Amino acid sequence: MIELRDLTRIYDGVAAVDHVSLTVERGQIATLVGASGSGKTTLLRMINRLVEPSSGQVQIEGRDTASMPVHQLRRRIGYAIQGVGLFPHQSVAENIATVPRLLGWSNAQILDRVDELLSLFQLDPATFRDRRPGQLSGGQTQRVGVARALAARPDLLLMDEPFGALDSVIRAKAQSDLRDIQSRLGTTMILVTHDIEEAVRLGDRIAVMDRGKVLQYDTPAQVLAHPATPFVRDLIGPSERVYRLLSLTTVAEIAIAGDAYGPAIPRDLTLREALAEIMRSGRDALPLEGGGIVTLAALRARSAR
Ligand code: ADP
Ligand code: MG
Repeated sequence: MIELRDLTRIYDGVAAVDHVSLTVERGQIATLVGASGSGKTTLLRMINRLVEPSSGQVQIEGRDTASMPVHQLRRRIGYAIQGVGLFPHQSVAENIATVPRLLGWSNAQILDRVDELLSLFQLDPATFRDRRPGQLSGGQTQRVGVARALAARPDLLLMDEPFGALDSVIRAKAQSDLRDIQSRLGTTMILVTHDIEEAVRLGDRIAVMDRGKVLQYDTPAQVLAHPATPFVRDLIGPSERVYRLLSLTTVAEIAIAGDAYGPAIPRDLTLREALAEIMRSGRDALPLEGGGIVTLAALRARSAR
């Protein structure tokens, strides 16, 4: 669990990040969304102490990060940024192996881990492990960058606009791959984006930032349904389209086989109503009258179209 308490960073008398408090539960993805200059990068970089807070605290699993040696802290935290900064003269495998090598893993462990990650990111190990970054497409480069950040099994992965440079088709694929990988590895992630739709697709929770402050920190469904301020309402304008789309489809159309606990919902409920029901129940899936279930994952996949 990551806990930010009253976190503040002042530059030249102005708060770039202004008394931010929020908690990210283990195994969840939190997205930070806001316009350029709203303080997202500064907030992210205070978590691995690339930027030192002016005041306030970051706690990881109950420990104040200010009291940890920086190198020890950064080993536990993966960091991936737009443009990734792969080492151009090293192979893909060597790039991914950077932190495990620093940690003194054996060669056998490193080779295993490299192939495991390449497979996980749908890059055939035999084809890709010896390539140089210059021989990769933009989407492949980005995946290698995230694989490198995950190589030493960090407790936490920080990502700063990791998909910013990708075109929209590759970007949608990268987003769904990331969700998939996150659900398999269970890594806690904090991802910065200026794109509200990306924040909604990827976040278990979304923090909406403006001028250093977090205006709202909640589930995507809550932020969309109940924007906390007019600013948040304006920001989510484009996503209302998603919400309207959800109103046009019934749960029967996305039902899958399976069992779920709780009272069954009618088959003709719209996806929007079903989403509200799922949020209310706090469950990942609900049973349908007459059989089958509707899952949060299916609703999310539908809203990502
Ligand atoms: P975002 O990532 O949301 O675009 P940043 O965290 O990069 O925002 O920046 C927030 C504010 O802090 C901006 O006004 C920026 O100019 C200022 N800022 C960021 N880093 C520095 C720095 N090293 N020195 C001075 N001002 C900074
Ligand atoms: Mg930034």
